[in-house]
Amino acid sequence: SDRVKVQSPIVEMDGDEMTRIIWKMIKDKLIFPYLDLDIKYFDLGVTNRDATDDKVTIESAEATLKYNVAVKCATITPDETRVKEFGLKSMWRSPNGTIRNILDGTVFREPIICRNIPRIVAGWKKPICIGRHAFGDQYRATDAVIKGPGKLKMVFGMASFPFLLKFKDIFQDVYEQKWKDKFEEHSIWYEHRLIDDMVAYAMKSEGGYVWACKNYDGDVQSDLLAQGFGSLGLMTSVLISSDGKTLEAEAAHGTVTRHFRLHQKGQETSTNSIASIFAWSRGLEHRGKLDKNERLLDFVQKLESSCVETVESGKMTKDLAILVHGPKVSRELYLNTEEFIDAVAKNLESKLREPAA
Ligand code: NAD
Repeated sequence: SDRVKVQSPIVEMDGDEMTRIIWKMIKDKLIFPYLDLDIKYFDLGVTNRDATDDKVTIESAEATLKYNVAVKCATITPDETRVKEFGLKSMWRSPNGTIRNILDGTVFREPIICRNIPRIVAGWKKPICIGRHAFGDQYRATDAVIKGPGKLKMVFGMASFPFLLKFKDIFQDVYEQKWKDKFEEHSIWYEHRLIDDMVAYAMKSEGGYVWACKNYDGDVQSDLLAQGFGSLGLMTSVLISSDGKTLEAEAAHGTVTRHFRLHQKGQETSTNSIASIFAWSRGLEHRGKLDKNERLLDFVQKLESSCVETVESGKMTKDLAILVHGPKVSRELYLNTEEFIDAVAKNLESKLREPAA
């Protein structure tokens, strides 16, 4: 066949609920017909995590370190309700947290821009990509309720000003020694800004930059950006290891339980698959770069532009149609889950038939 040969393996992490349904459609309609792939498959669906005492999550992360590329479907993070719903042996930890710890990486979230989808922050014309240092900060802080009067002595802690200053200086040093020349070759630059200054700048800017945040700021600001840019269905997320070699890609949203409940009752759904498709494309792009596989990189570019152009031609799922037409959007103005993926597949098919430029 004339499928694109992908020499090295990629790790696939399957997931839960509506995103698991979409994930299968993406593989069947957009990936496997065009790529000859060696997939290392791990089922991170909550029932299999439970059956393996969550070992499957650890194994999938270790395989990611070995092969350097993973694509991940959204997964349920169990809470008490989920423990009851699935009769789980334990309230297993968030797979994303487990994977992040093993990969020791930074999470980058980037919105996908479609010209015809209005943004709440109208001035944002280009993506703002948030890098979140996924370690420490408030999440590692120790809470304490102090019961009575006394003397409080703080020895170490995140509010340690000398450390914060050092953090900024380390960034500046590394930039000047290792990156400044390379940045300037591409007419880009790095600068440090305090968070309040940066938030004010971001609201007024037209986008087009990477915003490196500490863990807590990154958590808050990435939710803000997702809202400001439109639907969660247009937000991609990649986790990159500190040496830049290993990448895990996923959608920024969850398993879209609300739609899955409709699906379970046999009702029609209109779930946006773009961010899940971009999980595949961003993972495969990294594979293509590592292997210098030009045909794969060309496929990836066509897959991504097929998604954006489908939306820009007016074919979209309900979440986006609401942004364009308002909350009472009528049924003819959007496609259902499968119709949308079929429309992307049709676009992709014709792009792949065009002669190479
Ligand atoms: P969610 O992101 O799944 O959905 C929240 C709401 O956003 C939905 O009701 C829907 O209105 C909208 N939405 C999100 N993605 C959409 C899409 N692709 N198309 C159309 N609309 C979309 O978050 P939730 O409901 O809070 O969580 C559901 C489950 O997902 C939970 O079990 C949670 O643990 C899990 N979760 C997983 C991840 C992950 O794997 N990275 C992240 C967040 C939540």
